[in-house]
Amino acid sequence: MASLRPFTGVLTRLAARQLRASSATLGLSSIQTRLHSSKHPKGFEPPTTEELEELRERVQDFTRREITEAVAAHTDKSDAFPNEMWPKLGEAGFLGVTVDGDVGGLGMGYQAHCVVMEEISRASGSIGLSYAVHSHVCVNQLQLNGTPEQKQKHLPGLVAGTSIGALAMSESGSGSDVVSMRTTAKAVDGGYLIKGSKMWITNGPDADLIVVYAKTQPDAGSKGITAFLVGTKTEGVSCTRKLDKMGMRGSNTGELVFDNVFIPAENVLSTVNGGVHMLMEGLDLERLVFSAGPLGIMQAAFDVAAPFSHQRKQFGQPIAHNQLIQGKLADMYTKLQASRAYTYTTAKRLDEQGVIRTQDCAGSILYAAERATECSLDCIQLLGGMGYVEEMPASRLLRDAKLYEIGAGTSEIRRIVIGRAFNKEYANA
Ligand SMILES: Cc1cc2nc3c(=O)[nH]c(=O)nc-3n(C[C@H](O)[C@H](O)[C@H](O)COP(=O)(O)OP(=O)(O)OC[C@H]3O[C@@H](n4cnc5c(N)ncnc54)[C@H](O)[C@@H]3O)c2cc1C
Repeated sequence: MASLRPFTGVLTRLAARQLRASSATLGLSSIQTRLHSSKHPKGFEPPTTEELEELRERVQDFTRREITEAVAAHTDKSDAFPNEMWPKLGEAGFLGVTVDGDVGGLGMGYQAHCVVMEEISRASGSIGLSYAVHSHVCVNQLQLNGTPEQKQKHLPGLVAGTSIGALAMSESGSGSDVVSMRTTAKAVDGGYLIKGSKMWITNGPDADLIVVYAKTQPDAGSKGITAFLVGTKTEGVSCTRKLDKMGMRGSNTGELVFDNVFIPAENVLSTVNGGVHMLMEGLDLERLVFSAGPLGIMQAAFDVAAPFSHQRKQFGQPIAHNQLIQGKLADMYTKLQASRAYTYTTAKRLDEQGVIRTQDCAGSILYAAERATECSLDCIQLLGGMGYVEEMPASRLLRDAKLYEIGAGTSEIRRIVIGRAFNKEYANA
């Protein structure tokens, strides 16, 4: 923190939280703030616009210094995550944006998490993806569903970036139809034996702690799934391979095997056989926070295309003076702003009213992901020959953007989720 400029908004918030905590112990409940939703830390207060702007500037300071274009290009080329980044992200406070102050989090909510995710993804799509998997699907699941003991044990290290998190639900035969998973967790004396394998697990090759979903009652279908906290040093856990991907290179993705792994009962996350509820609610929030990834990639595409089209001259003038080029830039800009508005409106509603609308979480990422692929294709086209060579980041942006139409549920599944949410509303009307 010392190397960063003072971040007064967040520091003020943390000081206010400490004051509230001590006031509560004195019995001064009248100055306690109200609990906005079960998805936020106790005493959560939605951030102000100024605080969010300040946070954005702070993330930009960080990415300018730590995730330069050279770092992003090297991460892509070497296909290796810069693991020294984790404690730096932790020190800056970005790994616990939605987490309670008493375990080191900022407790700033989902708009703030989207801001951090957007700006990190603007600097590097793959660092952004690994960041969100750690800070959201692992850390926030633990924040929302962990017991006080589980949180106290795991969150400080995860929030500090000294421990790396992941989440494993998909399997080679169970992607979109994730509840058909075949990994089992058999009850034994004192705990469970997990057996099976998981596919496409982000941070899997590097993780210290993984939230693993398994069937505790295989004949109960979706009602027989439980989530477990699994340390990767536990006997029987292995990452059998790192997957070679077209994009998001450097966000390490692995196949994991669990060979009769003994997990004590105290490592059950939430309730036995209650995993599907956590999984589905987790997917809503995941889609919302992950929708900021394609926002960052779209902004990065615009950051490259706009100056290039004003510098590059053909037929004696900057190509940006050509109306066909102006049209492409206008489309890129409008798609970015429309996607941004959808994501932040959905996040604001969650922070300020505690409302999670499944169709808007799915809609935010559906819209942003498809627009990001279009914008990165436009960026390549605007750059002409330079768009097609690896000296420029345009091809990386396209390869990274495409993931967001597949990961966290495909575009097809998001459309189905949106349609079903309306079916449910009309059935209940
Ligand atoms: C880089 C990367 C990182 C990932 N990280 C993680 C992670 O950290 N943890 C994790 O658990 N998972 C992770 N995943 C897995 C991801 O969530 C799945 O790949 C995704 O849900 C799609 O599943 P699938 O690959 O099995 O495709 P399938 O389900 O086999 O789908 C194939 C195609 O069929 C379509 N389809 C399927 N069913 C229907 C239907 N009913 N109607 C219409 N179309 C349909 C799909 O939309 C898709 O186009 C990751 C994947 C990738 C690529």
